[in-house]
Amino acid sequence: MLRTFAYVRPGSTSEALKQLEERGSRVHAGGTDLLGCLRDGVFEAQKVVSLSRISDLRGIEVAPDGELRIGPLTTIAEVAAHPVIQEKFAALAQAASLVASPQLRNQGTIGGNLCQRPRCWYFRSDYHCTRKGGDTCYAIGGENQYHAIFGGGACWIVHPSDTAPALIALDARVRVVGPKGARILPLEKFYVLPEQDATRETVLDPGELVIGVLVPAPAPGSKSAYRKVRARGSWDFATAGLACALATKAGKIADIRLVLSGVAPAPWRLQAVERLLIGQKIDARLVARAADAAIAGAKPLEHNGYKVPLVRGLIEEALGAVPRA
Ligand SMILES: Cc1cc2nc3c(=O)[nH]c(=O)nc-3n(C[C@H](O)[C@H](O)[C@H](O)COP(=O)(O)OP(=O)(O)OC[C@H]3O[C@@H](n4cnc5c(N)ncnc54)[C@H](O)[C@@H]3O)c2cc1C
Repeated sequence: MLRTFAYVRPGSTSEALKQLEERGSRVHAGGTDLLGCLRDGVFEAQKVVSLSRISDLRGIEVAPDGELRIGPLTTIAEVAAHPVIQEKFAALAQAASLVASPQLRNQGTIGGNLCQRPRCWYFRSDYHCTRKGGDTCYAIGGENQYHAIFGGGACWIVHPSDTAPALIALDARVRVVGPKGARILPLEKFYVLPEQDATRETVLDPGELVIGVLVPAPAPGSKSAYRKVRARGSWDFATAGLACALATKAGKIADIRLVLSGVAPAPWRLQAVERLLIGQKIDARLVARAADAAIAGAKPLEHNGYKVPLVRGLIEEALGAVPRA
């Protein structure tokens, strides 16, 4: 049952920040995640602050230097369909096109997709788990087929977003404002692992808002892609996915960023694998070494060991597609 809350629709970011100063206020963008959480009692809100009237927070712009600027209220469908994003930031367009269903992509926003809460069935139901401030992660000894194989510990959720790993592979930053002012930080540093704090997924403090996503112009000749594996062909969250941004020079890998989805409590960057690959020519031995390195440190739970060969396969597939001229 949805409990009663106040609902406000401020017309500017500064007005929204004022509204958010009150304890128990929650940000509402498209509402596709927030309303489910409120209805299911995952958390409560005394006041819901809708951003829907703040037109400054909507839209996609390409700066003269090629930087992509996306307002957080831009829908996921708009991101997926944008011609410049499709051409130059393909991993993001692909990831956005694979989020949920057409209805959810039309209603859900990019800001909400980056800030959404996890889908763990213990977190989403009545269990007072670690993420809700309890002292038990029920996934450890329970139904854990869709849970993490990396970065667990106090909590084994997987981060649900498809666009976040793609944006991290593209070296995106987020612009945040709050009661203490504005800051810009790499999206990679926006996410929090359970070892830092098991009760939240991002560094956002109460009252803070994401007001922009900034993606640098890709280096000439670079490419990116996002591959998502899910349990069924229809809408579903990733069981595992891989975002890859790559630049090659004279047949060698000049730069690469690899970020996994669906396997860790935050988008999982494979920096050791990247280091192994940079400066190298791709061949079958290197691909095998990279796949080994990608799964080093994986700690599958009782029912999700299948994710280990899945990650290996994602790496083999992505590197296998790199031209070997
Ligand atoms: C059936 C279903 C299937 C789904 N499948 C996928 C999938 O395959 N892949 C995937 O990536 N996602 C999936 N999702 C998640 C969906 O993409 C998110 O619900 C959506 O992106 C959230 O966007 P929203 O605008 O509706 O956010 P809201 O529901 O409005 O907000 C989500 C959270 O983010 C906070 N928030 C929103 N905007 C901001 C902001 N600008 N600053 C600070 N905090 C903010 C809210 O307070 C709330 O906690 C699925 C959801 C459903 C219901």
